[in-house]
Amino acid sequence: MKIVERHVIIFSIAMYVTAIGLLIYLQFIGKERQFTVAIDIEKLCKVDVDENEWEYVVLHHSATDEGNAIRFDKYHREKRKWPEGLAYHFVIGNGSGSGNGEIEVGDRWKKQIYGAHTANMDLNQIAIGICLVGNFEEENEPTNNQLESLTSLVNYVSKRYKISESNVIMHNQVNQKGTACPGKNFPYEQLIDRVTRSEPERTL
Ligand SMILES: [Zn+2]
Repeated sequence: MKIVERHVIIFSIAMYVTAIGLLIYLQFIGKERQFTVAIDIEKLCKVDVDENEWEYVVLHHSATDEGNAIRFDKYHREKRKWPEGLAYHFVIGNGSGSGNGEIEVGDRWKKQIYGAHTANMDLNQIAIGICLVGNFEEENEPTNNQLESLTSLVNYVSKRYKISESNVIMHNQVNQKGTACPGKNFPYEQLIDRVTRSEPERTL
């Protein structure tokens, strides 16, 4: 056997082993990310202060590939100079920076105070701001876990504060100039459909 041939064989075996290794690794990573989201929304949303009279839900994306409540809080405090920090009431992670589908509760929710997530100050007083980590204006869309968590959260707050489906809106539906938020790939119809479908049957 020529030396070159032997090299080719050794190289092929090495590639094969690497490929198998990579497959096993990816499966492992895949499994790790696919944890089921079992969240007790009621417990998560419980606050120790008087509840605000919320009338709207406004949906956002972070316009970043990764992130979490602490990082956005730091940004809003230091760069935007908002003393209350994190502009949103809730942040739903995508697996980069926090859990995939993990719901983080912001201080503004715990204090039941206005958000800073739209340019409309009147709306901010009565609108629950939910931000999904990700940039859905680019090629990405929310993960299944994010959508499941968002559905549960929107369902819960809608019932608790009697927020109608038409008051669950995207940031770009708020009357202000030019925001793409939460991005063209945000599956709004699907969300509304899920929220409506997951309502328990009403007794006639
Ligand atoms: Zn937004």
